[in-house]
Amino acid sequence: MDLVQLTDSAYHLRAGSNAGLLVQDGRALLVDTGLDRDAARRILKHVTALNVELAGVLVTHAHADHFGGAGEIKRRTGAPVLAPAFEAAVVENPALEPVYLFSGAQPTKELQGKFILAQPCQLDGLVSPGRQDVFGFDIEVIPAPGHAHNQMMVGWPEGRVCFAADAYFPPEVLDKYGVPFYVDIDQTLATLELLPAMPYNVFAQGHGDAYDRGGLEEVIEYNIRRVETIRELVYEALAAPADDGQILKNVADSLDIRIEQPAIYYLTRTTIHACLNSLRQAGRADLTLDDNRLLWCS
Ligand SMILES: [Zn+2]
Repeated sequence: MDLVQLTDSAYHLRAGSNAGLLVQDGRALLVDTGLDRDAARRILKHVTALNVELAGVLVTHAHADHFGGAGEIKRRTGAPVLAPAFEAAVVENPALEPVYLFSGAQPTKELQGKFILAQPCQLDGLVSPGRQDVFGFDIEVIPAPGHAHNQMMVGWPEGRVCFAADAYFPPEVLDKYGVPFYVDIDQTLATLELLPAMPYNVFAQGHGDAYDRGGLEEVIEYNIRRVETIRELVYEALAAPADDGQILKNVADSLDIRIEQPAIYYLTRTTIHACLNSLRQAGRADLTLDDNRLLWCS
């Protein structure tokens, strides 16, 4: 995990899944915690090297790679941990993540790896949107739903930096995964459209290197195009009535994606469902039951 200085007092803890660190008067506020105990230890090494006391932790959203280290950080430092409502339920009960991916049933073992099933963390409270003092830091908590149901970004006006969670992905990450994880397509697009106008100089997201204002705009455009492309491929797959498995296959084939792991299949299926619901709400898709098959059609 590399420590990258973003502005005078803000740092990006760069790894497969990034965290953010705001530093002020010998104290630090941590945004996200990495995947697991190892990530937590690496984060705390950087905190120690900066010679600051960890004042608290904010979790942006309840995906294992963002909060999996929270329990270990709390155990080692005693720092309080906050998360947005709804996400908080998963941080405290991480089994909910594989459970919802597996349609509510006890999940198959392929959904119990650490990228899906994190270690739990008992929270000290919830964080809500708005400008506020959190552990002595004057921050702006900004709703960014779409990739997760109640994801929040953390803006720090004094440090001129926004920790943007997974509100967008760098082009190379989008190209690697093809179909990223979204739970709500319309909210994802609304969040993306909000970002370029936000009054920050540096945007540090959950995966890949941070962007300055100039670089961000192009990345946001790339994200919007990808989300709209996936939704249109889902729509095209409805030319003949199809179930969600057939739709997923058509979309993956069109994008030349080969899904090799059951966990990736289930994550992709959630994005397909998000697209179907978006299309249905726009009056472009409907569902029907036919001979015990649930079929989607345009
Ligand atoms: Zn995420």
